[in-house]
Amino acid sequence: MNSSLNAARRSRELAEAGDLVVDVLVVGLGATGAGAALDAASRGLSVVAIDAHDLAFGTSRWSSKMIHGGLRYLAKGQVKVAHESAVERGLLLRHTAPHLVRAQPYLLPLTPAVSGGQAATVMTGYRLGDGLRMAARTPRRLLPGPARISAGRALSLAAPLSLNGLRGALLSWDGRLVDDARLVVALARTAASRGARILTRCRALELAGNGARVRDELTGSTFAIRARTVVNATGVWAAQLDPDIRMRPSRGTHLVLRPETLPGLRAGLHVPIPGESNRFALVLPQSDGRVYVGLTDEPVEGPVPDVPQAPEEDVAFLLDVLNSVLGVPLGRQDVAGTYAGLRPLLAAGGRTADLSREHALLTSGSGVVTVVGGKLTTYRRMAEDAVDRVVALGRLGAGGSRTARLPLVGAGAVQEAGAARQAGVVPDRLRARYGSEAGAVRALMAEDPALAEPLPTGITRAELVWAVRHEGALDVDDLLDRRTRIGLVPGDRAAALPAARAALAY
Ligand SMILES: Cc1cc2nc3c(=O)[nH]c(=O)nc-3n(C[C@H](O)[C@H](O)[C@H](O)COP(=O)(O)OP(=O)(O)OC[C@H]3O[C@@H](n4cnc5c(N)ncnc54)[C@H](O)[C@@H]3O)c2cc1C
Repeated sequence: MNSSLNAARRSRELAEAGDLVVDVLVVGLGATGAGAALDAASRGLSVVAIDAHDLAFGTSRWSSKMIHGGLRYLAKGQVKVAHESAVERGLLLRHTAPHLVRAQPYLLPLTPAVSGGQAATVMTGYRLGDGLRMAARTPRRLLPGPARISAGRALSLAAPLSLNGLRGALLSWDGRLVDDARLVVALARTAASRGARILTRCRALELAGNGARVRDELTGSTFAIRARTVVNATGVWAAQLDPDIRMRPSRGTHLVLRPETLPGLRAGLHVPIPGESNRFALVLPQSDGRVYVGLTDEPVEGPVPDVPQAPEEDVAFLLDVLNSVLGVPLGRQDVAGTYAGLRPLLAAGGRTADLSREHALLTSGSGVVTVVGGKLTTYRRMAEDAVDRVVALGRLGAGGSRTARLPLVGAGAVQEAGAARQAGVVPDRLRARYGSEAGAVRALMAEDPALAEPLPTGITRAELVWAVRHEGALDVDDLLDRRTRIGLVPGDRAAALPAARAALAY
């Protein structure tokens, strides 16, 4: 079946949804819900998956975009979870999304603030992390091992570092997504290619074990979706649909810097947080040249907002930590944008919480299975666990999960036949975002050269048109804030707005 999502497909499948009784209704289309839709559909189950807003509207687009190897869990003695994370990283790098996940080098600069003892402890941790890589059978050619490097080499990888007292750096590697929202789009489209009905702008108003009352947010009309089983994958909003669940969200803020702000930054940085022995801020260069700096961890009380805001005290804190390692300090005016996300953490206690992993499965009295917590990195495992649970609960008679070796849309060689070949060489930037579909995006530009015009961050108009035709973008927010990340810098967003409007009308 076709993997393309668009307004026409949404209308058609929405019209059908009310007449069906599907095997699995998935509520929430972040990484977890889109992963669950794919897991269920690839087992041959009939699936409807809905989101109140858009694909990747929630926490899944506010991450640090790292695909973790599990070192942080190892540090807490959670060996099983650490191994699981390293295995999932390996699956993404090797089988499911090699076009979206890359190895990223990180430096921990050895400044006078880092003692020899602290450096030795961190290096031991990195070596254990490399052991996890080996245990997960991820080859070294995909993720090189750690090393101590000289100050000169450190500067060649990270020119903005201060030379003052720099003794060198510790070099380590981990996985990084080209864009977290693109992972979710790829999951949803792959699920659609297996027959899942992916319906954005459909809000679950009430859930029960046999379906949901749903409102089409575009028309305001309400209708029922009937299902044999229901998965609640609404992350930080999960308690709104199951009042027995208690969430305790924590806010993580990132700064967004323009490409020219830290020239010559080719590696990420782990920057020790002054006064803390084992906490680091992250400096994360992106493939579009922007740099993100994160990340805070602050408990949040009260109602969960649709889009969390980064407070100025988080911005000041991150700038201070960053400046502790830079040759030329940055000021508030250098921060081009900010974003904040809420970690979907479950409050301790509760009924049938299975917290043996970092995520939990909870089954409500009416039979709704909530899957919550975890990480972007482990979305596939969370999805597998949730679908295993509903298959057993609903006696759906499906086999085990097939997603560990199931390539997502875009995995594989670039298709350069026909129009794509005529269009000329496919740029690396497109390959990194579209994988095997990069040739088709390039071909759009050959058909209409006006579509090759670049927008902020190098995104072309062709990519916006592609997102409308194939990636389910329904409005300018979908285009600028999720299919592309132009919107992370407000000035860039304003500049690209006319192009987004034009793409919707193209
Ligand atoms: C700042 C920060 C940085 C992070 N960095 C990393 C990282 O680098 N690597 C990593 O592995 N993990 C990271 N994480 C964790 C990771 O981002 C999350 O665990 C993950 O994205 C959660 O995905 P989810 O699908 O469960 O929830 P979400 O992505 O929040 O999805 C929930 C969806 O449910 C929808 N929804 C809500 N209510 C309804 C309703 N009533 N009806 C229909 N739909 C509804 C929402 O619109 C939303 O799209 C980070 C988290 C934060 C906060």
